[in-house]
Amino acid sequence: MEQRYAELKARLAQIFDLRRTQELLFWDQTVMMPPAGAAVRSAQLSTLDQIAHGLFVSDETGGLLEELRPYEESLPYESDEASLIRVTRRDWEKARRVPADLAAEMVRAVSEGQEIWAKAREEANYELFRPHLQHALELKLRYVDCFEDYDDPYDVLLDDFERGMKTAEVRAVLDDLKAELVPLIAEVGSSEPDEPFMSGPFPVGAQHDLSLHLIERLGYDPRCFRLDLTAHPFAAHSGTQDIRLTTRYVENDLSSLFTAMHECGHGLYEHGVSQALERTPLATGVSYALHESQSRLWENIVGRSRPFWNHFYPRLQKTFPDVLGNVDQERWYRAINRVKPSYIRVDADEATYNLHVILRFELEQEMLSGRLALTDLREAWNARFEEYLGLPVPNDSLGVLQDVHWAGAGFGYFSTYTLGNIMSVQIWEKALSELPDLPEQFEAGEFGQLHEWLRTRLYALGRKFTPKETLERVVGGPIDAAPYVRYLKDKLGALTTA
Ligand code: ZN
Repeated sequence: MEQRYAELKARLAQIFDLRRTQELLFWDQTVMMPPAGAAVRSAQLSTLDQIAHGLFVSDETGGLLEELRPYEESLPYESDEASLIRVTRRDWEKARRVPADLAAEMVRAVSEGQEIWAKAREEANYELFRPHLQHALELKLRYVDCFEDYDDPYDVLLDDFERGMKTAEVRAVLDDLKAELVPLIAEVGSSEPDEPFMSGPFPVGAQHDLSLHLIERLGYDPRCFRLDLTAHPFAAHSGTQDIRLTTRYVENDLSSLFTAMHECGHGLYEHGVSQALERTPLATGVSYALHESQSRLWENIVGRSRPFWNHFYPRLQKTFPDVLGNVDQERWYRAINRVKPSYIRVDADEATYNLHVILRFELEQEMLSGRLALTDLREAWNARFEEYLGLPVPNDSLGVLQDVHWAGAGFGYFSTYTLGNIMSVQIWEKALSELPDLPEQFEAGEFGQLHEWLRTRLYALGRKFTPKETLERVVGGPIDAAPYVRYLKDKLGALTTA
């Protein structure tokens, strides 16, 4: 039996190598590659994908998994071996259900969609995009049809990002949040222009040095990490010891500091996965929401806190003396935590961001269930946007066309951003209950204990358990919006009254 297990592991290690090589080639494409390399690169990526997919969905993989059932049952549920067999079987059964021609058609629709969407957004014309969206939606419904066991078509798509989570569960959590958030934002949201010092100028070389300085304190280790430039920041990795973070700098904005901390949070999660899981499908973060809980925890809960800036603000002032020399720390703190409803999700603040997500989550379910026709999508978007954020939508570019996700048939994904925010506070409160002097440590510029707590409690587990089991192990209970609502009310209440 151990022989069979070794065979499975060797096969999965090959697939891991191919998958991580794909990711590195993608990193190279966005960070390093000269533009004319694109045509050959997309062929290379597709070749690697076909080989990896073929190896994985093969009968041989399925045969090994079947033979290993008794071995799995003889081992403790939480052992690395039983977890590897269990999680891989679930991946395999899922991957086998999707016919190759549908998978290929979905890949094609993604790449065609980008161009059509970009043009429609440029012209602020939803009608140009609608036929493609209809096609993408139909493909997604065919994908849903490949599966049986679901209560809501959205369940199938959500499961790709948050395995085992049900739409009804997410809806309940997000409804709770929305009921609190809409009136809170109406009350504390600002309509004033940003503080003038927020637009710099901040020389980009100094931004880069400071970004590195901050994330090195959080746990970025130059032997295992890199930080490079890209248009749309992301984190990638080729293994737990090779983490690639990307960021961007513009002179009239300091959001790069928060971008670096956000991507560093993703990187710390991947870097912290147990090395015993290396080169297996368990060697990665467990889900999109838990991943986002870590980027948000480091970016917002740590990186926008008073204790953090009590330590770093003097250095920030010294780095940008012309702009920040005469700005006191409290003004800076308020400026980086200001709540201000705005049109574009990716530019939204910590609180209003969630309403952008809830809007998309609701519309996606309605599109998938057929309750909302695409001819009515724009009107539905605009009406609900104004209801939640209090702003009338002036055009489609600032409205329904702002995200690329639907062009790539990326339904089911948006909700994970807000689920991540909610989990981030649950995890933070648990850490703080066990390490009550964390704020004092942050004031001293020390983040090692928090990092170590997260590494041993969460990061090390990788993908051994389901997202729900993982959260349960870390915080001792299920997802719950209440701590997040409390956190936002405390923070935003203090900002408006003090
Ligand atoms: Zn993220």
